[in-house]
Amino acid sequence: MSTPTYRPRSGPMRWRNVEVLEYKREHGASFREVTRQVLFDDPLLSCQLRYFEVAPGGHTTLERHEHAHAVLIERGRGRCLVGDRVYDVEEHDLVHVPSLTWHQFQADKNEPLGFLCMVNAVRDRPQVPTAQDLQRLRENPVVAEFIAQ
Ligand code: MN
Repeated sequence: MSTPTYRPRSGPMRWRNVEVLEYKREHGASFREVTRQVLFDDPLLSCQLRYFEVAPGGHTTLERHEHAHAVLIERGRGRCLVGDRVYDVEEHDLVHVPSLTWHQFQADKNEPLGFLCMVNAVRDRPQVPTAQDLQRLRENPVVAEFIAQ
């Protein structure tokens, strides 16, 4: 995808000529009600900027990978798991997802959760937790409560 010099807004959290994609439907990952828009992709910058939106009550995949994320909450509120901690997030909060750290974003029951996500352009495939990983994650009651949602 080539990124134009100017990409105006075309609606609420929509941009001209940016396709609204259903969140990756790969490797049987569990997710609910998530859309993805790729806003910038410049090979020299070696990163992409995407906008994700999780509908009320929805969530992204619980995953980890070698690449990292910088996330800026743009709309609504929700919670996120990063490693062994759960954070309440709202507009303008920043979240750093380090390499090989389990993470998941959940929208509030009554509000969507929209966020910009900067990611490496060349990146490894996300890993989803094995039964053993899930067992280990559930040993922490805070994490257990989060992933049960
Ligand atoms: Mn991720």
